[in-house]
Amino acid sequence: MALINEHYLKLKRNYLFADIAKKVNAFKATHPKADVISLGIGDVTQPLCPAVVEAMHKAVDEMSRKETFRGYGPEQGYLFLREAIVKNDFLPRGIHIDPSEVYVNDGAKSDTGNIGELVRWDNSFGVTDPVYPVYVDSNVMCGRAGTFDGEKWSNVTYLPCTEANGFVPAIPDHRVDMIYLCYPNNPTGTVISRDELRKWVNYALKNDTLILYDAAYEAFIQDPDIPHSIYEIKGARKVAIEFHSYSKTAGFTGVRCGYTVIPKELTAASMDGSQRYPLGEMWLRRQSTKFNGTSYISQRAAEAIYTPEGKAQVKETIDYYMGNARMMREALTALGLKVYGGENAPYLWVKTPGGTPGWKFFEQMLYGAQVVCTPGVGFGPSGEGFVRLTSFGDRDDCAEALRRIGEWMAK
Ligand SMILES: *Cc1c(COP(=O)(O)O)cnc(C)c1O
Repeated sequence: MALINEHYLKLKRNYLFADIAKKVNAFKATHPKADVISLGIGDVTQPLCPAVVEAMHKAVDEMSRKETFRGYGPEQGYLFLREAIVKNDFLPRGIHIDPSEVYVNDGAKSDTGNIGELVRWDNSFGVTDPVYPVYVDSNVMCGRAGTFDGEKWSNVTYLPCTEANGFVPAIPDHRVDMIYLCYPNNPTGTVISRDELRKWVNYALKNDTLILYDAAYEAFIQDPDIPHSIYEIKGARKVAIEFHSYSKTAGFTGVRCGYTVIPKELTAASMDGSQRYPLGEMWLRRQSTKFNGTSYISQRAAEAIYTPEGKAQVKETIDYYMGNARMMREALTALGLKVYGGENAPYLWVKTPGGTPGWKFFEQMLYGAQVVCTPGVGFGPSGEGFVRLTSFGDRDDCAEALRRIGEWMAK
């Protein structure tokens, strides 16, 4: 008899976006003629840029000929891509990462969800609140999160990100073994300054804490003073793993490619504390056993992002989304709403008027304006009283959604 992993039973049965889809479908069933616009989705809408498409076609052609066909690639990723990453994402910022410290993956969700395998199940960990659900749920699955009381998990340190602290969490007053940080942040769309990030690195150095830094949205940063990588901070190589993704940067949500950086100096301790082991070597061992690499075609596609044409084209798409974000910020602010984020990230974190609960506001806006948002409380208890809007839609849809929200709010 196969016995199940009982930790799975503790998970909330539905993923947040399944709950939203259910409510939207219920609305559509009773309003078949309504044209619903979603500002709730976390997926991108603009197609791959020409440089990427061309590289993919070329890679497919190579696969079609015996002389240039590629089978299994290196588990860590092709060197051509790891070198392009080092040269373009790190060197220009004065960060020295060796290609051997870069692990190409099939997206940041896999790696942020799997990285916890490298450390004992009973490590303590902290997350910002609200938070990208993957960090919590992947720890629930191995028993690290404890039990759920209807709002919080018993073994998780929650770091509230609120209006009062500018959505930058306070350093915990006790030590934790691991901490997940994501900047620019999903869902709040806010960023962390160099000084604030330095506090986290110093906390980690002092407490021997492992920082898991999700930089999936770094390409959306507009302000030149905001750090793109935690390795811009001195000492971070000893304490931080960093995750990158081409999903939002270059529309790779369906192509699947990203990478993780694990510096050579990054180690974790044996049970009795007498030995330290490099996590990079363990991760390579893990990947070699459970992952056979990202497809050659996807890696060539990712490489093309770093060509001069690729860079210009990717920037154009990011500018398009950030143009949506600016338009949304301005229109919603003019309607008297309090709007955060949307300046260095594709997400806007909007305070519901008059303290309306998030799910209630979601329904009101769906029925009143046929516009879908994401209730902030779905990302954690401190998200209550906010909704997340994304700028990943078409410009025309965004404009129409804003027009309808304006009309609805004027009523
Ligand atoms: C979208 C997203 C990712 C990227 O996921 P992929 O698996 O690379 O598509 C990672 N982290 C956060 C916070 C995200 O929102």
